[in-house]
Order: sequence, then structure tokens, then C-alpha cells
Amino acid sequence: MIGQRDTVNGAHFGFTDRWGGVSAVPYEELNLGGAVGDDPAAVTANRDLAAKSLGVDPARVVWMNQVHGADVAVVDGPWGDGPVPRVDAIVTAERGLALAVLTADCVPVLLADPAVGVVAAAHAGRPGLVAGVVPAAVRAMTELGADPARITARTGPAVCGRCYEVPEDMRAEVAAVEPAAYAETSWGTPAVDVSAGVHAQLERLGVRDRAQSPVCTLESKDHFSYRRDRTTGRLAGYVWLD
Ligand SMILES: [Zn+2]
Repeated sequence: MIGQRDTVNGAHFGFTDRWGGVSAVPYEELNLGGAVGDDPAAVTANRDLAAKSLGVDPARVVWMNQVHGADVAVVDGPWGDGPVPRVDAIVTAERGLALAVLTADCVPVLLADPAVGVVAAAHAGRPGLVAGVVPAAVRAMTELGADPARITARTGPAVCGRCYEVPEDMRAEVAAVEPAAYAETSWGTPAVDVSAGVHAQLERLGVRDRAQSPVCTLESKDHFSYRRDRTTGRLAGYVWLD
């Protein structure tokens, strides 16, 4: 259910694994993604289960329509009726409102400045790393009074740099923007380490209190991996303030 969680000065961070939900194969069990072909009733049940396990109100969780971009939305409550905006980061200054990010190999990024009461969730895959979605999220937090030096950052389970094989030119293109993402697979071919790239971006912004999940989604049977399974579920990362 909740594979990893911690609390820092009233800011809560949680990352799910794939177990403890009601979805059938190939989304078993705790698929939290609503756009992957799973039964919508199962996804709703899973979102309720995960929220309950975290101790948050499922009606006070904000999800995104993620499109591998760098757009950020500032929210003060769940979306109303109508389509969910296409953004890859959300920021709030509303205590008790949980922000959620869906992933299956991409990097889920959770940020909080508990002193000023601002949190953010961001979805950083390879395109998001290059587009700068994480710096954009930090900028949006700063505009609400956050100080990067006070921000706590957590990145969740993601495909690791030794598993994420890409063509040589793609590695070069990513490394030109973010050298820390340059990697090689365990079998010696070009790769990208998105988590390392995200942490390098955060470091440059002055976010020093950071932790990275040791879990590689592609290597872990307890996590969904798009690159491994193609048709599969989505994990979620949640951040909120007391
Ligand atoms: Zn790996």
C-alpha cells in the first residue's frame, strides 16, 4: 500500500507501491491512474484505500492530467466540474489539501516548505527534466513565499539510470541540459538517470534537504513499471501539510 512515508515539521510525504488494492491483472492491485484502461470503479476504490491508509480525505486530494510538460497550477482545492488541467506540477498553500502525482518509471517529486505552509507535487520524466518542470514548481512555491533553503524534497520510486536505456543522441540531448542525468545501463549502453538530474536541478536551486527513493521501478516487482510491462498501473506520491 504505502511503501514509503515520512513527516518533516508537519509536512507529510507518501509513496505507494502496487499492493493492497482491488484492480485486476494487469493493473493489480493498487492502480491509482485513471487513464490507463483500468475499471474506473476500481481506481476510485483504490484512491479511497490509499487516502485512508495515509490518513487523508480522498475528497481533498488533487490529481493532475499529466502531459510531460512544465506547466504548473496553483490550487486551493480539488478541481471543480470539467476537464482536469494539463499540468505536470501543482502547488498549494492550503493546509490539509493533498497533492498527488502519478508515475510508473517517471520521477514523482514532492516538495514542502512547512514554515510558510507551501507544498508542491511534480511529475518529472525525461521530457519534464529537460523542460524544467521541477525548477518551475520551485519558482511557483517561491512566489507563494517559500524559501528553497527551507524546502524539503522527496523523490519516489522511478526507473534507475542503470535500467533506463535510450538512444545515444537522446542521452546527449538530455545531458546537454542536465549533465547529471548522463548514465550508462548495466549492460553498457547509453542511458538517462532522471532522478539524478532532478536532484542536480534542486541542488542548484538551493534545495539541500533532499532524499531519493532507492527503489528502481523496473527492477522491483512491488512497483508498476511502464517500460517493463507497457500496460500497467500507476503509483502515486502524495504531499500535504497538517
Ligand atoms: Zn534499475
